Amino acid sequence: MRYFPLFADLHGRGVLVVGGGGVAERKVRLLLEAGARIAIVAPELTTWLTDQTVGGAADALSRDSKGEGRQSRGEGSSPGSVSHVAKFFDPSHLDGAILAIAATNDPAVNAAVAAAGGERNVLVNVVDVAGMSSFIVPAIVDRSPLVIAISTGGVAPVLARLVRERIETTIDESFGALAGLLQRWRARIKAALPDVGARRRFYEQVLRGSVAQSVRGRQTEAAEAELQSMLGETRQPRRGSVTLVGAGPGDPGLLTLNALRALQQADVILHDRLVSEDVLSLARRDADRISVGKMAGGHSVGQGRIHQLMLEHALAGRSVVRLKGGDPFIFGRGGEELEFLEAHGIPYQVVPGITAAIACGAYAGIPLTHRDHAQSVRLVTAHSGGSLDSLDWPALAQERQTLALYMGVAALETIRAQLMAHGRSAATPVAVVENCSRADQRVTLTTLGDLDALAREGGIRSPALLIVGEVAALSAKLHWFGTMPRTWGRLSQAA
Ligand code: SAH
Repeated sequence: MRYFPLFADLHGRGVLVVGGGGVAERKVRLLLEAGARIAIVAPELTTWLTDQTVGGAADALSRDSKGEGRQSRGEGSSPGSVSHVAKFFDPSHLDGAILAIAATNDPAVNAAVAAAGGERNVLVNVVDVAGMSSFIVPAIVDRSPLVIAISTGGVAPVLARLVRERIETTIDESFGALAGLLQRWRARIKAALPDVGARRRFYEQVLRGSVAQSVRGRQTEAAEAELQSMLGETRQPRRGSVTLVGAGPGDPGLLTLNALRALQQADVILHDRLVSEDVLSLARRDADRISVGKMAGGHSVGQGRIHQLMLEHALAGRSVVRLKGGDPFIFGRGGEELEFLEAHGIPYQVVPGITAAIACGAYAGIPLTHRDHAQSVRLVTAHSGGSLDSLDWPALAQERQTLALYMGVAALETIRAQLMAHGRSAATPVAVVENCSRADQRVTLTTLGDLDALAREGGIRSPALLIVGEVAALSAKLHWFGTMPRTWGRLSQAA
């Protein structure tokens, strides 16, 4: 190991920063957050740096008087301070400093700081020059009090930044609050559970179970109550939870960060048939995946069975993700599932997803609303069952609105007949978007009048969404993804 990783307490300690430009400013911002007493040497400072410093007074670090510099602005309780001590570097500026950062664009000055630091045993970082540095500053993910530092030993700072981005996406914002909660409860937990092993198991329960879940849901009071009761009954089994997650239309890039995090924390994933393999491959490797979309025989798993599976796994203390295509609350039975969980006292959360209407509009180049054509959108299920008859067809047939019809592949002829019977023109543009956002996406542009022919001869396959309304025609002009839209019926004859 070339560098020894450590976290240093800089509160009230002297740090010399040589340089007054943008790079120096970034370092000073971080040092201030850590409460350091900063002395700057530079001919000129950025405006922000100037604002932080004591009006020109030279407070050398060696005076060793705490709080000489003005309290930095907006840092709350941070005792950090900044003083501008000189224009040009002199080795004596290192007196009283425990660290120095050389952030000038003059290699000779940087080298002089490094050499002087070497002589006086002060650790020096020359920004972006590992070879001249006796310490390096890692890339960080800050969820204080949880801080993750990443370093490639100065060999590949860009790689470190890349790793940082990865970690940023997986560690959600609630980790800081969670660490803070444990900090507050630490003494009480230790008193209640003197045995180290028992304490470790308790912390595992807290971090993997419903306490963490409550913190994530920004329900601090619930989290504290939960902790309290867990401490009271230490034998209590770990309680699992269910997160309803929207997987979007297929392209894994359309997952939210929270969806990705839920997938990476899951013990069990109950997923629909519509969820793409690309999305599933982002889940934790050792998570159990259970497809509840369709069983081998082609029969789908009944809703009752899905409820039972969620309950079983949650009661066994697992972190369950119920993963659904699109958004869980749009024609996804998310409501029923939550009602069931609520009735059984299982904690739950919901991560919304991009629903098919939104995704198909975007990926087919069809703005669902448009000032010239449509002032409203309706999301409608056209599942061919009794439900089709109970739709409010007169309202659906009105002009200047867009219809996004889900599950309508088997009902194209009924949709055409009903909408036309209630006054929608046969010339109304219609787009059928199959497999939206996936490599095999296909868009068919036609008119309401031609829907029956399309149903018979067009080979339309589920999953497909129907977009009915003037905006559908814009796809011919605004499509950008995958193959060109094909035209069907009178539209193709006109072309
Ligand atoms: N909860 C889902 C909808 C489930 S109902 C959502 O919010 O998107 C299933 C219907 O959604 C399908 O019959 C189809 O109409 C539509 N659908 C889902 N994914 C689709 C996709 N990738 N391309 C086109 N339509 C899709």
